[in-house]
Amino acid sequence: MTLKVLLVEDDRELRHTLSDALRVEGYDVVASSSAADAHAVLRHSMASGESLDLLVLDLGLPDGDGGDVLRSVRAQYSLPILIISARHDDANKVALLDAGADDYLVKPFSISELLARMRVTLRHRGTVVLAPQTQYRCGTVEIDLAKHTVHRGPELVHLTPTEFKLLARLVRQAGQVVTHRQLLMDVWGAEHVDQTQYLRLYMGQLRAKLESNPTEPSLLLTEPGVGYRLAESLI
Ligand code: CA
Repeated sequence: MTLKVLLVEDDRELRHTLSDALRVEGYDVVASSSAADAHAVLRHSMASGESLDLLVLDLGLPDGDGGDVLRSVRAQYSLPILIISARHDDANKVALLDAGADDYLVKPFSISELLARMRVTLRHRGTVVLAPQTQYRCGTVEIDLAKHTVHRGPELVHLTPTEFKLLARLVRQAGQVVTHRQLLMDVWGAEHVDQTQYLRLYMGQLRAKLESNPTEPSLLLTEPGVGYRLAESLI
């Protein structure tokens, strides 16, 4: 099955480079250079039943802000959205992720990084529809959510119920950033969304149990000011 990607990027050179690279990888690419054009492509594709599989969206567009495009697309369609932008302030990233972006990539990025993030986003959405991801493996760490087990090499790792719940939340979105707010909401509940100190404490505990070097994590990654990302699963 060929996956169809809408790429919205006003920088002509970057648009062409990315379109070519994605086509080489086997994606069917529709490229837009403005918010208005992107909306027109979306309307047309949804009306004709040729649904899009992924939206790769720049923020600084000549006729509007990509964030507004994101919000209006998210209000109407469930299609996965990957933001690409030179803007790197944390508050903006958090707002976009909370508004429904699946992931973001700060420019400049490598093509291989973009392709990897696209695969993770698509797989994540696909597995949600088909079967939720319950198994995870990266390095020596293996997690089986169905069996409720975590191994580091041959060793069974004992986690507290809250540690397991936090880890499980990250496994379900492995490879993607999950914001502080999302984690606090899902693990501790809506009344605790501002208690980021819980996260620091529990991430520290998980790192101590799972990382070979907890001060330089390779598994439980920090996205400064935004949230956490569990390294992509190798399963
Ligand atoms: Ca731009």
